[in-house]
Amino acid sequence: MDFVAHTKALIVGSGGNGISPAVYFKRAGIDDFLIISKHSDFGGTWFQNTYPGCEVDVPSELYQLSYAVTGDWSAVYARQPELLTYLQKVAADNDLYRHAHFGTEMTGADWLGGENCWEVRTTQGTYHADFLLLATGYLEEAVLPRIPGRDAFEGRLFHSSQWPDGYTGEGEHVAVIGTGSSGMQIVSELQKHACAVTVFQRTPTWVLPKRNEKLALEDHERVHEAAAAAAAHRGETFSRREKAWSDVITGQGLAKNEELAREFLEAQVGDPELRALLTPRHRFGCKRTLYSDDYFTALQQPNVRIVPEAAVGIGASTITAASGAEIEADTIVFATGFHFGGHVLARVKRRDGRTVAEVQAGHPQAYKSVSVAGCPNLFLIGGPAPNGQIWHGMFAGEATARYLLAAFDFMAENGVLALEVDEAAEAGWKRRADAILDNGPVVAGGCTNYSQDELGHNKAAWPGSVRDMAEALSTFDASAYRVVARSAAPAT
Ligand code: NAP
Repeated sequence: MDFVAHTKALIVGSGGNGISPAVYFKRAGIDDFLIISKHSDFGGTWFQNTYPGCEVDVPSELYQLSYAVTGDWSAVYARQPELLTYLQKVAADNDLYRHAHFGTEMTGADWLGGENCWEVRTTQGTYHADFLLLATGYLEEAVLPRIPGRDAFEGRLFHSSQWPDGYTGEGEHVAVIGTGSSGMQIVSELQKHACAVTVFQRTPTWVLPKRNEKLALEDHERVHEAAAAAAAHRGETFSRREKAWSDVITGQGLAKNEELAREFLEAQVGDPELRALLTPRHRFGCKRTLYSDDYFTALQQPNVRIVPEAAVGIGASTITAASGAEIEADTIVFATGFHFGGHVLARVKRRDGRTVAEVQAGHPQAYKSVSVAGCPNLFLIGGPAPNGQIWHGMFAGEATARYLLAAFDFMAENGVLALEVDEAAEAGWKRRADAILDNGPVVAGGCTNYSQDELGHNKAAWPGSVRDMAEALSTFDASAYRVVARSAAPAT
């Protein structure tokens, strides 16, 4: 495979959490970095997910980058095209396109001990990098269940994240498998265009009202002020979200939310039979809460039918429910979710030659969600980072960028070329995270969800608030690391 380049830092991923370290590098005067991405542009999840109705569920005044705060959102919760434009503008404004190699997927990475760098193999050639930063996304790798007959379906069939350009379902019979955040948003939009929509719901989830509304020009100044306060970790909406997150990770205060969701369901759905089908049997917070103003309304339209069962079979033009009922479909949408964090750690080899995934054996862990034992100069950012997820999906990129710059300073000051986190520090941090998260509804709420690892622990959530993450990653914690290589002449 051709050799492409040697760089100080190789960032893998071009979503919000790949953009932030690049911007922080630029601002620190570091220009020797590259960004590789399997996509053809910046934007990450907002580049990949283009289904109609795709919309953020964190208020836009909060869901933005602290170094690129804007109040010019067209709605309280922005839609995908606007978010994509925002991220691509941030990348352009910070001159990141010059550093980007698109259409380039990482296929493997090994630490080269003799040269103190990572050898990163990609679909376009080999890179060498002193630091490897993986920002490959939380919800990037589609789950497409092998439902028997799937390959024999003669109509159109696709995953929610591989939406055909311009498809609206117009005049068709569409079956949607899955009722998570994606399925719910998709059904609400398809209902407006399709002849018939059949929704396969295996497990109902708690839904809260979203209260989205359009913002007019005269609102922008107010939203700008609120956004600036949020970026500084202040502001009312910020505090509300911090509280909601800590409720969900610790299991406190959830009864109140469950009551609100029950009241919302009762207010929206008059038919007791339908209401019963839509009432979850697990605790609030076990599955990710859905926020919608129009989902329940869409479900009650004459062209929508809910099948409260798993989809278990597919024929040439039909889809079969667990009860055996067969439903005609022109198109099947798999809104069946993602492998949380993906499998990128199965492609990274530790110094001992084993992959990280093999060693971690179904219980993924990383010190402070960032550093992995056996992997010098490797940093995980957001998505692939065990316990790196927090309510503000793009915050980890900024917090980890600060940590990285602090690590670079420590290394320069101490003549260190390579360091890796201590196994005991990593295990201790994960033990403490599990102790907090094991009591939360994601683990103990009586459902299955994509955050649970193979041992039943929460592999996804950061065990604290945004403020806690900011604090934990504000300084480089040298005592948790050991030096793997020093420069010949340490700086004085
Ligand atoms: P998801 O929450 O994992 O939902 C997958 C759905 O597919 C579940 O309802 C699951 O049922 C169902 N399913 C799988 N196989 C099935 C089968 N054979 N028959 C019937 N149902 C089946 O995935 P998602 O909706 O893509 O959401 C993933 C995450 O993406 C969200 O939690 C959120 O973090 C993010 N997201 C966010 C937004 C937003 O508003 N910002 C929008 C979309 C996605 P079970 O529950 O029974 O497993």
